[in-house]
Amino acid sequence: MSIVYYSSAERGKFWQAWLAKNAPDLEMYLWPETGDPTNVRYFVAWDLPDNLLLKFPHLEVIFSVGAGADQFSPVHVPEGVSVVRMIEPGLINDMAAYVTFSVISLHREIPRYLQQQQQKLWLKHDAVPASQCRVGILGLGNLGSAAARVLTQLGYQCSGWSRNQKHIANVTSYFGDDQLAAFLAQSDILVCLLPLTHLTRGLLNRDLFTQLPHGAGLVHAGRGQQLNHEDLLDALESGQISHAVIDVTDPEPLPLDHPFWTHPSLWLTPHIASETHAESSIKVLLDNIRRHEQGRPMNGLIDMNRGY
Ligand code: NAP
Repeated sequence: MSIVYYSSAERGKFWQAWLAKNAPDLEMYLWPETGDPTNVRYFVAWDLPDNLLLKFPHLEVIFSVGAGADQFSPVHVPEGVSVVRMIEPGLINDMAAYVTFSVISLHREIPRYLQQQQQKLWLKHDAVPASQCRVGILGLGNLGSAAARVLTQLGYQCSGWSRNQKHIANVTSYFGDDQLAAFLAQSDILVCLLPLTHLTRGLLNRDLFTQLPHGAGLVHAGRGQQLNHEDLLDALESGQISHAVIDVTDPEPLPLDHPFWTHPSLWLTPHIASETHAESSIKVLLDNIRRHEQGRPMNGLIDMNRGY
């Protein structure tokens, strides 16, 4: 049984050495090394080469090195091969921290104070207590629920929107398309942590922005293709959205003449909200391989029909 790894070399070398020590029965090859292709059962990657099953006829599982698997084109995923995404504590904690930093910045008007600093202006503004600041999180999965837990501990009024109802202490659960409008109407700061699917592509658009309270903040750390750039620029121009923190765009990186780079009401980060940590994620990968070997369900198994 062997694993082929097809992603960043640095992490690959670390994982290869870790497995050699902790799971010597599993051999990991770093692409383009593959060992005997008929022994390969697991392929670990961010994206996929063509004709995977022709290369590895006994492939059983594709593991994404990232939290999503939307980057895998379904045509490259061979029939009968499972797809598993990465759910690991390092990535979850980093996202909770990024969202918390962004929400606090918007709630406490840090963009406004940074602009005042440029003007050498020492001027305080009335602050709304966290308990009156309503944060709405689109997507209450592993990442959204972790962010909600931290924000509720800081006293924010949190709600989330998902497909199915959730039960998280002090977090109001809205679910399904019928409840989206009610959820948006009470979101002073909207956070997007949805996976990219055919239902969420383009969701952050004019129609959605108009359903938020006037002057709402936006934090987008889902996937770039969920956001309509023109509609966001219009919403910022009209004041419907007061400030946006954007971590993901389409394309990445944006062209140098794109208005997001210089917009005074937008902070742009280069898809760094959270990344897979090499040390914690290899334990998760090994646990999933053992689960698969024992016929137990793997964590992060993708439902390819649902898209996440
Ligand atoms: P997850 O555990 O699969 O959670 C996804 C959540 O979205 C679930 O609550 C799900 O509802 C909800 N959802 C999906 N489609 C929906 C729809 N059509 N309507 C309503 N709710 C819907 O995923 P995760 O681990 O939290 O990750 C979320 C996403 O974050 C990833 O897919 C990726 O795009 C993004 N991400 C970004 C970065 C970054 O650095 N910016 C890093 C990692 C991940 P149910 O629970 O009811 O199914």
